[in-house]
Amino acid sequence: VKRIGILTSGGDSPGMNAAIRAVTRVGLNSGLEVFGIYNGYKGMVEGYIEPLTRETVGDIVNRGGTILGSARLPEFKDIEVRKKAIAQLKKRGIEAVVVIGGDGSYRGALSLTEMGINCIGLPGTIDNDITCTDYTIGFQTALETVVECVDKLRDTSNSHHRCSIVEVMGNRCGDLALWSGIACGAEIVVTSDTGFDEQDVLDRLRDIDIIKKKKHAIVVISEKITDVDQFAKKVSLNTGFSGRATVLGHIQRGGSPCPFDRLLASQMGEKAVDLLMQGIGGQCISIRDNKIISYPIEEALSMPQESRKPLMNLFDRLV
Ligand code: ADP
Repeated sequence: VKRIGILTSGGDSPGMNAAIRAVTRVGLNSGLEVFGIYNGYKGMVEGYIEPLTRETVGDIVNRGGTILGSARLPEFKDIEVRKKAIAQLKKRGIEAVVVIGGDGSYRGALSLTEMGINCIGLPGTIDNDITCTDYTIGFQTALETVVECVDKLRDTSNSHHRCSIVEVMGNRCGDLALWSGIACGAEIVVTSDTGFDEQDVLDRLRDIDIIKKKKHAIVVISEKITDVDQFAKKVSLNTGFSGRATVLGHIQRGGSPCPFDRLLASQMGEKAVDLLMQGIGGQCISIRDNKIISYPIEEALSMPQESRKPLMNLFDRLV
């Protein structure tokens, strides 16, 4: 392999830039030429592809977002569209590609590999919803953002005998909600794993008010579970707290990546280049028990999520 490409795809996450930098620098230092493919698979199809140098990836290790841009291109599932993308790569002599993104992006990477372009996937998403890895690039930074926001909400909720209902990202995977719930000392956490029994949550809030005599309550809830504004109204009507909903939204996607995410991105980027240089494709990089390893993408996509029960039990024992 002489020339490799790199792209970021799907939802962005803090640390993607650190990964781009790592792939580029490790690649160049190993004698490869490295090309940036802009706006994900869209740029691959359109030929928006430019060489990356040591300098172009300078000054980005600390920056959120992705200098390569990201986009969604549902048509990439169509083999004819992928053929166009491959023609663009061949025109430039690019033989292999590192894809940073979520499971949708992994599917694209697998399809390309099957068509002769070796691809390696890196897990770039704040949701931590790639089951084969303990952590995705961006999760820890997003967690810090959530914790900072919830801490602030707690101060003001406490002054006003309020119940703050905080909606965080991650639907299929409730890690952001559960982890921030523990870290912030939330009273209640609702995720796709816990399920949402509205009446039960209202009953528990009444107990927190009347029996535990708490001045405030924090409920952290994963997105797409319920309409949090409507639920806040019910809290005001049915409990002693005044309910207020806060949807943290895209704030969680931004910001300077924390050291853990920068390190994780750098280690994973290194591993991706090493695999491509050995002529290996169709794999994705994970961290498992503190080791950087890889799995076949196919296997990774069908892996069941590890149980979050121990942390849920811990949460219950802390309230
Ligand atoms: P994420 O990678 O964050 O999960 P998406 O699910 O939107 O985000 O996927 C990102 C992109 O990956 C899509 O816009 C599409 O271009 C490509 N993609 C997704 N699924 C497939 C698939 N089954 N085959 C080929 N490409 C896909």
